[in-house]
Parts: sequence; C-alpha cells; structure tokens
Amino acid sequence: MAGGAADTPMMRQYLELKAQVPDALLLYRMGDFYELFFEDAEEAARLLDLTLTSRNKNDPDPIPMAGLPYHALESYLRRLADSGIKVAIAEQREVPGQRMMTRELVRVVTPALPWDVEGPDARESCYLAALASSGVGASGGSGPVGLAFLDTTTGALRLTEVADLESAWAEVQRMEPRELVLDALVGEAAVEAAGVQGLPLVRPEHGWFDESAGRRTLQELLGVADLRGHGAQELGQAVRAAGAAIAYAREVARVGLEQVRDLQVYSVQGQMVLDEATRRNLEILRPLRGSGRKGTLLQLLDRTRTPMGGRLLREWLSSPLVDRERIRLRHDAVEALTEGRLRRSLRERLRLVADLERLGSKAAQAKAGARDLVALAGSLRALPEIVSLLAEVPALSRHLPRDLCPDVADDIEAWVVDDPPQALTEGGLLRTGMHADLDELITLSREGRGAIARMEARLKEATDISSLKVRYNRVFGYFIEVTQANLHKVPEAWIRKQTLTNCERYITAELKEFEEKVLGADERRKALEYELFVQLRARVAEELGRLQALAAAVSFLDVVGTLAEVAVDLRYVRPVLDDSLRLEVQGGRHPVVEVQDLGERFVPNDLAFDAERRLVILTGPNMAGKSTIMRQLALVVLLAQVGSFVPADAAHIGICDRIFVRVGASDDLAQGRSTFMVEMSETALILNQATERSLVLLDEIGRGTSTYDGLSIAWAVAEAVHDDLGARTIFATHYHELVGLAEHLPRVVNQHVAVSEWGERIIFLRALREGGASKSYGIQCARLAGMPSTVIQRAQALLKLLEEQKRRAPQRQLSLFGGAASATAAEEAATAAEEAEPVAAPPTAAAPDPLRAALAALDPDELSPREAHARLYTLKELLGPR
Ligand code: ATP
Repeated sequence: MAGGAADTPMMRQYLELKAQVPDALLLYRMGDFYELFFEDAEEAARLLDLTLTSRNKNDPDPIPMAGLPYHALESYLRRLADSGIKVAIAEQREVPGQRMMTRELVRVVTPALPWDVEGPDARESCYLAALASSGVGASGGSGPVGLAFLDTTTGALRLTEVADLESAWAEVQRMEPRELVLDALVGEAAVEAAGVQGLPLVRPEHGWFDESAGRRTLQELLGVADLRGHGAQELGQAVRAAGAAIAYAREVARVGLEQVRDLQVYSVQGQMVLDEATRRNLEILRPLRGSGRKGTLLQLLDRTRTPMGGRLLREWLSSPLVDRERIRLRHDAVEALTEGRLRRSLRERLRLVADLERLGSKAAQAKAGARDLVALAGSLRALPEIVSLLAEVPALSRHLPRDLCPDVADDIEAWVVDDPPQALTEGGLLRTGMHADLDELITLSREGRGAIARMEARLKEATDISSLKVRYNRVFGYFIEVTQANLHKVPEAWIRKQTLTNCERYITAELKEFEEKVLGADERRKALEYELFVQLRARVAEELGRLQALAAAVSFLDVVGTLAEVAVDLRYVRPVLDDSLRLEVQGGRHPVVEVQDLGERFVPNDLAFDAERRLVILTGPNMAGKSTIMRQLALVVLLAQVGSFVPADAAHIGICDRIFVRVGASDDLAQGRSTFMVEMSETALILNQATERSLVLLDEIGRGTSTYDGLSIAWAVAEAVHDDLGARTIFATHYHELVGLAEHLPRVVNQHVAVSEWGERIIFLRALREGGASKSYGIQCARLAGMPSTVIQRAQALLKLLEEQKRRAPQRQLSLFGGAASATAAEEAATAAEEAEPVAAPPTAAAPDPLRAALAALDPDELSPREAHARLYTLKELLGPR
C-alpha cells in the first residue's frame, strides 16, 4: 500500500505505528487534527461522515486521508465505540534536538476499555472478561475454570471459579462482557459451541495467563503482600484470568487501572442458573426481536433513580438468588418501602445522588473536573438525610451505608467554588482563604485590573478622548484603542501596534509594566489553582475504596425502592418462599403483557404444582394464551427469587434452582443449525441438567418434524420429565394425543386454555381450566388471521375428510387423494356443512338471532363477576365486526 507518497519520514513513522496495531483504526495526531490514512481513512469516513481527501494529490498513487479536529476526539470515539471498533491514538511529542515531531501510541480504545467513563451507557456495566481453563479434557477443561470481569469505568474487578467450561460460558453470557480474553487452551471448537457469537474475542500474548505473574500483578495493584485478605489466595484459574485481563488492559490498551482498589471473589453457587435460550425467551434484558429494551422485564421495572441503581437492577435480574435467607432480606426491604411516605422521601433524595462509582473512578484516573467533584460532594451531602430517614426501619437499617465519607465532601466544598468552570487551567476553580499564595496572586491580579481601569480613566482625561479604551487580547496583551476621529489627539510617546478599519491600537511603557504585573499574577494563579486542584483530586482518589462501598449500599437502596414502587403501582404481592417443591400462584399475571395495550382485559390465571402434580400438559387453540401463561409463571418465579414482589394475588414458591424455557421450532439461523436440531439439542440439555427443583417450560416441543416423529418425541420427553426428572413442568402442545398421558402417569394433569365457540367463530376466554382441550381450532385461527375464504372452506372440507377417514379406519394411513379430495371446494364445503356437528353449525339465515339466543340462555344470578365479564366479551363478539 505504501506508494511514493508514503515514502516520507512522517509516513514511515505512521506505518511503523500502524504495524503495531493492525486491527485498530489509527488516529495520528498532526497539529490540531487526528489524521487517518489508507483503509482506515476510508472506514472512518464511512462511519463518521468525515470528508475523504488524499495526501499528496499530484502523486500518481495518492494516499486516502481523513481528519478529525483534536477537540472533538471524545465524541468521535464514542461513536466508534458503538460500532465495536478498536481505535489507537498516537500523540505527537517534541524530542529536544530532533527536528521532526515524534509520535507515540498513548491508548488503544477497545469495546470494553473505553476512552472515558461517560462514553458507555451508564445503566450497563462495561466488563472486560477473561477466561482461564486448565485445558484438560476434550471440551477444553474438566478442572475449575477461572473467570475475571474488569470494569474500568467503575474500578470493579470480580473473580470466580466454576466447575466446568459449560458453566463458565453461562456465566460469561450472564455478565454480558464487551470483550473476552480467552485462554489459548480453549479450542476453537469449544468457542463455537459456546454460543457467544458477536462477542469480540482477544487471543492472549505470551505470558498473559501465567499464574504467578497474575498473582504478582494483583498484589501490586491492590498493594498487598498476598491475596488472602481478598479471598483469592487459593484460586489458581481465576488469578490467571485476572492477570490476563489486566495484561490486556495495560499492555494493549495502555490503561492505568488506578481506579481498581479492590477485588471481589464471588460464587455462582448462590445464583439461579438461567441459560441463554431461557434468558432470550423470557425477554429479561433484551427483546426477542429487535434491539433496545422495549417489551423487556428490565424496561418495565427500571425506575431507578441513579445509574448505579440501574446497573445493579440489571445484575439482579440476570442472577436471581436461590438462598432463602438472602431473598428474604430483599423482600423485607422492599416490603418496608411499600410504605408510601418513606418510599417517596427516599426516591426524592436519591435524585440528588450522582454516579458515585463512576465519579470516583474518574477521580482515580485523573480525569475528573471541578464540576465532577462538586457533583460528588453534592451527592455525599444528600446521604445523611437518607440514612436518618431509614435508620429506624429494621428491615432497612442493616443495608444502610456506615461510612458516608463526609470528610471527602468537606474537603471538596472547602476548596472548590460552588459553580466552577469546565476548564481546569483557566482559574476560577478554588475559593479564597484556603491557600495564602493563591490569595496573594488573586489579589494581585485583581488589583492590577483595578489599576488598569484607573489608568483608562486617567488617559481619557489627559487626552480628552472619551471613547478611548484599554483592552486586552492574547496576541498583543493590553493596548489602548483610539477611533479614527480622535487620532490627532494621541500623544507622541505612544507606540502604534496595529491599524484596523476604524481605529488604531497603541501601547505605552506604563501599560506594559502593569501588564506584566497583572498577567504574570494571573498566569501564576491559574497554574497554582490547577496544581492545588490536582492535589485535591488525588486526595479524593485515595478514598475510592470507601466511595465504592458507599455506592454499593446506595445502589441497593435505589433498587429495593424501585421494586417497592413497581409493587405498589402495579399491585404486586409479596410471595411466600420455602424450600419445598410446591409452586402455587393465584391470579398470576404476565408482568409485561398485562401493561400492554391489548384491546382486551388481561385475564389472571391460577397455577399449582405440588408433590402429586408435577407435569401439566397444556392444550388450547393457537393464540389462546398458552405461551403467555407459561412465561408468566417463569417470570413470577424469577421476580420472586430476584427479591421482588410478584404480579399475582398470592404466590407460594418452593425455590427453583433453574428455570428452563424452550420454544419449539424457533429459528436460530444465526447459529447455523437447523431449527429442529436446535430444538432437540436444547431439549436434550434440559433432560440432562434439570433437577427435581427446576421449573421446566416446554412450548410445542417436537413440532419441527413429521407428525408421528414429533408426537413420539414429545411423548417420550414428557415421560422422561415425569419419571426421571420430577421437575415442575408445563408442556404446552398441539398434540392432543398427549392428553392421554394423564391416564398412565400419576403426577400428570391436563389443563387447557378455554375458548368459547359460536358457529365458526372462537372467542378467547384466556382462562385456564382443568382437562385437555377438545380440538385445535387451527382453521378458525386461520380465518382470524385473514386467510382467503376459499382456502378456509377447502381446509374445512379436507379436515372433515381426514376425520372421517380416521373414524372409519383408524389403522389406515390417512390420504387426501382420491374421489372426495378432488371434488371442488364448493361441493366439499357444502358436504362439510351438511355433516357438521350441531354445536359447530354456522348460523344460517333460518337460525335464530345468535345474540338473542345467547342472552336468553344467560342466568345472571349464576355468574361470578369474572364469568360475567367473559360473557360480555362473548356477546360483543357475536355482534360481529362493526
Ligand atoms: P400459539 O399456540 O399460537 O403459540 P398461544 O396459545 O401460545 O398461541 P399466546 O402467544 O400466549 O398464545 O397469546 C396470544 C395473545 O393473546 C397474546 O399476545 C396476548 O395479546 C393475548 N393474551 C394471552 N394471554 C392473555 C391473558 N391472560 N389475558 C389477555 N390477553 C392475553
């Protein structure tokens, strides 16, 4: 690529640097611009709408070039980070004695290691992950697998070890890192099977995963002699992983990591396991289709007041608990805050609290400005009131922060003015009365200014030029400005500096003398203020560990306050939890569907499992609400174990160790596996992993193949779930044959979602009833979906034919070929209508008015309010489309 134009010293330097970061866009500082060349320029021009030009246009082989102004760097970097692109930044440096500027790489910005803490979405963590495996066994390891997660925006460093690679991938998916440094011992095949498509992988350089180097690095980073105090002394793989994450951050991205003051070792044991398919199907953090948060559980619940709370809520939702005591503590706290006045006061005050974690981290990275420190102090000042508000509430007092860091707020407030400017080098940041030298410089520069004002007045009088002005600019310093009309009055001794269209500018010896005094004082003041500010910022940074602990406590309060707010607003109740195998929900609702604009009222439903009732075969027509019922049960359990109240009238939940949600025949083209294969391998995973304590929800498993194959598989899976797993399971299916299972297996029950029918119409009642559904109503659904009436009639005729064949000769293979099937659609529709059973007969002209008939059949005294409501819908439906 390097043609003639590339053969200059500057371009040679560029190419040398570019060779060090081949996978990054290189921003090459040249004066006031960062320039990009070659393919980098073309890519950046496309991504950032920059103008693509070329260097040395006359050259036969000009080099594509694009530039961006240095002061806009941050905003461009944020846009590039959103595209998941690595960016390397080369700054210029003057080397004494060298004529040419030298440039050096100062940072490589990667998806997980952003340029500034404001860049990434404050409501999400920004993790760099590293995975270390002992490499034994075909799937990449049978021994413990170590994981490290580093968030440079908050300084969090979290370590864990899990039993095998499979659990490690599950944890990686739960934590949603933005990049993963992967041990060379984990092979390509294992990565491919892991389902982490789209996650940028970093292959390590030599020594990154070395255990003793990792240990030394951590000890040095935390300033300790060993890792005992942090609970990481015994960990091998996790320490290797942490070492690799730190090595990548430091060596490749050139990040300092001053903000990392602590590490947390955690265990996945205490968490409910949710695999990727389940997370996706339940739409916890992301919608099944599309991007953003719309339609997710997170969007419904996230009413947090602080970004830290937002991050913690996300974390809670992705890792529900299994420990009854820990869940109880959260429920207690939420319950206490259902008290309106208390909750409102807390949430009102939380509004005043900024992102303590990221502000502290910014201070530690020497990136915080004076406004950041003021925001930090203001946040700290809001805390004592919160604490005194909640101190008397037993369920909350144990979660309150102990150390509110008032000294940090005192220090900041004593030094920094209330409303400091953005720039740190222009003075005006600090208060007077704090530092004698600074005060003196401020007085001097202020006095100097006063003296200049006095001088102006004196000069006006002496020269009799009333429009005369003493002004200042950066080029000339102070000067006297006289308009054209008054030039004849200017004294001889003045020195002319500049002529403008309608005035002249002069200086005098006296003016320059003052200038020196004033400007000198001013410059020294700015420098001293900056120096003192940097010292203050460093003092704040020293307290980072305390600030982080405080932030954790505040986040907790924010999240429980939010869950209480949702509970009151949406009428959720506190669930009863125990370690039994019971699961009973009365009046359960789907939290997300119930708040949607459905065009109908949401119908709550009851569901119950116990030792005798373990497997529900759920039938009902398409669109009746089977999937909704299953998902609502999963979400009620999930919310309960997160620590939230639940959308139901009452709930008793024997704690679940895992929830599995599978939807049959769902496309997974991204993974390149056929639909049916995905369905089968996911089902296999459940059969292998679910326990008696799990909740298993299978939606139309076995539909992706021929009827008999599918039915056989569905039957066998249901048997296995019943006999071997004993998990609380709902099996939603259109195979009505499965209803027969209940006759053979003791713990199986049939339930169906009821519809009411009139003629060829069906009306969805959304109500769950005991027993299996009698038929599928597929054709009625097709009619609702707007299928042409000729097709509907033909389908009805064919269905009739099949049912007839089956009735006459149940053993024979069904066939749609032959006499009747080739008759015209109209004839068959007529035959079908003739043969139709009386209940399903469509209303004809001779038939009584269906609305009257239905009304006449009603006995209002016999109806419960809920039934009455459902009947009203039925009656409206009979009116037909209006
Ligand atoms: P299919 O068999 O075609 O997958 P389904 O029986 O699983 O259908 P759902 O997808 O659960 O049906 O529900 C269809 C629609 O019915 C939902 O999108 C929702 O709008 C509505 N619905 C479901 N349950 C209820 C309910 N309890 N109350 C009110 N509306 C509901």
